Amino acid sequence: MLASAASLLNIQVVFLDVGADAPAKQVFSSSQHIDGSFKDQQKIAELASKADVLTVEIEHVDVDALDAVKKSHPNVEIHPAPETIRIIQDKFRQKEHLSKHSCPLGEFMSVDATSDSIKSAAEKLGLPLMLKSRTQAYDGRGNFLLHTLSDIDKAIDALGSGSRPLYAEKFLPFVKELAVMVVRSTSGEVASYPVVETVHKDNICHLVFAPLRTPDAGLCKRAEEIARSAVKTFEGAGVFGVEMFLLENGTITINEIAPRPHNSGHYTIEACETSQYSNHLRSILSLPIGSTSLKVPASVMLNLIGVSDSMQPIKDVCSKALEIPGAAVHLYGKKDCRKSRKMGHITLVAPSDAELRDRLRPLLQTLPTSSS
Ligand code: ATP
Ligand code: MG
Ligand code: MG
Repeated sequence: MLASAASLLNIQVVFLDVGADAPAKQVFSSSQHIDGSFKDQQKIAELASKADVLTVEIEHVDVDALDAVKKSHPNVEIHPAPETIRIIQDKFRQKEHLSKHSCPLGEFMSVDATSDSIKSAAEKLGLPLMLKSRTQAYDGRGNFLLHTLSDIDKAIDALGSGSRPLYAEKFLPFVKELAVMVVRSTSGEVASYPVVETVHKDNICHLVFAPLRTPDAGLCKRAEEIARSAVKTFEGAGVFGVEMFLLENGTITINEIAPRPHNSGHYTIEACETSQYSNHLRSILSLPIGSTSLKVPASVMLNLIGVSDSMQPIKDVCSKALEIPGAAVHLYGKKDCRKSRKMGHITLVAPSDAELRDRLRPLLQTLPTSSS
């Protein structure tokens, strides 16, 4: 999606990813693309030697390699700043950073992967207790919701048997999950997209409704302000996704921040004046930031998530979408379909909420349900 946006602006992009047929390379043709891992220091240096500006689409990159680039290629700008990625890629450090800057958070604490440590966290924060891997987490893989102390061994086992550092969060019985995409320019100014409601299924983002519908007049303003203030505390330019919880008493807390275009911002491609991808490029290249306003009354994004190794159920939903006005299909061109893998998404736009729901219904009815 970044490749498509770059192509429209005639911005030359070189991608580092495994495989010559990686999704981004399918979209943007170049003899310069590099085949390799975004964790490979040498490959990252090779990428830097071909670029004026480096950016990331995933936070699990090798930050030491980015620091090395700063020294070996002082003229290459890196956005967001490597230090920002270093803080965010460790969720516990991220929470400490946000806490230090007085951002609203639920309670959290460090734990070791031992029964005693988890027990004392449960005494302090209560049950159920949300145990999380500090690093390498996505789509809820790295989270374990501990309901009873008798499941501690199971939790330690599920979270890598001590091979991955952990921390604990108080379980927050939120009434809604919200997200705001924020664009940070090279001069540190921030602009925010509208607040959206995200609906998760099995820890994976399932639907994103934009804009958020709420009877609380001040809620959107508060959520946008919290998201903008949080992003201001980081260095470097680019788009950031801020995930939040809305609690029953109207309090908003930050769940986590992604230092890159985000799944909850995919709707911006069809529903906003400027997509998150176009604005990511504009911000890291010091070009004018485009309007973040919605240009349609209502929109929803539906993730297309693999239910098995077969792509057929997803193709069936896409075929249905092609019959629906206002539906845009995005298939990512990932080589293999797997259970729980994000293979694409569909965005629907509509002139009203009622029409949006009518357009969404047949897609949800066609959507495959997870087998095993
Ligand atoms: P992502 O794909 O968004 O990066 P992730 O693996 O980093 O996901 P989180 O965002 O930490 O995981 O958690 C996934 C989901 O689990 C959240 O969207 C929310 O539904 C639930 N969750 C996370 N933390 C808590 C909490 N403290 N209390 C209640 N629910 C939570
Ligand atoms: Mg995450
Ligand atoms: Mg998340």
